[in-house]
Amino acid sequence: MNYRHTFHAGNFADVVKHAVLARLLTYLKRKDKAFRVIDTHAGIGLYDLTSDEAARSPEWRDGIARVLDAPLSPDAADLLAPYLDAVRGKGGEALTAYPGSPALIRALMRPQDRLSAIELHPADYETLAARFEGDHQVRVTHLDGWLALGAHVPPKERRGLVLVDPPFEVAGEYERLADHFAKARRRFPTGQYCLWYPKKAGAPIGAFHRRLQATGIPKILVAEMDVRSEASTTGLSGCGLILVNPPFTLEDELARLLPELTAILAQDETASHTLFWLAGEA
Ligand code: SAM
Repeated sequence: MNYRHTFHAGNFADVVKHAVLARLLTYLKRKDKAFRVIDTHAGIGLYDLTSDEAARSPEWRDGIARVLDAPLSPDAADLLAPYLDAVRGKGGEALTAYPGSPALIRALMRPQDRLSAIELHPADYETLAARFEGDHQVRVTHLDGWLALGAHVPPKERRGLVLVDPPFEVAGEYERLADHFAKARRRFPTGQYCLWYPKKAGAPIGAFHRRLQATGIPKILVAEMDVRSEASTTGLSGCGLILVNPPFTLEDELARLLPELTAILAQDETASHTLFWLAGEA
């Protein structure tokens, strides 16, 4: 387990993932009924942007820092408010810390809602568990997220969201993501799912999408953002989200938000975004 999210916290990919996550949670809060979020690859929850790691790899300066500095349109400011309020709440005036998914989710939960956060890295698990010690709304588990995905669904609330955000540090991760999602979806068909994946030169995105389509699972929306051309980097050129059973409002929200976010996060003139249905209604 070599992946350390500290090097990447707050980068463009985190911004896309967390902005959408905040929209999904905002929708879930429209009904009083409690929901649960299952975060299978949770990380440490809060990232110190003044740490050596963040300073050595200041990806957040081309991510969250740009968004906080940008003159947003009133519509984008409105759609991003739940996310940006949570970020500002952690960092204050000068951004010194960035909330990872468990901290963002926790900031947006109501008293009746619950979070199950799973992390396998021993030190990261300890950090995350300490962060939420004594918080009865959050359960932190030291477990393989892929196992947890099977074991934790359906949640007893029968309502909620599963975030699957693996590090993609081993071969076969796209296939694993599609297959484990399909298994979980069979056990919890009404849940919302948000699956994150990286885009880079040679990544098998087409095959990944076809594998998801072959499951026959309906209502799969895809949102992707490319911030630079694949050829210009050996690293991440973009990222994508698989959004299953999205709220009916999400497609329109992302159609309004993605063009503005892409313009803010662009790293070269080829930057672009896409939004399409991989599978429609059943
Ligand atoms: N979801 C986090 C966020 O948005 O702030 C970032 C997660 S980071 C991309 C992936 C995390 O998965 C790392 O913290 C890594 O230690 C953890 N991890 C790696 N393999 C895992 C596994 N098999 N099960 C659970 N966690 C794992």
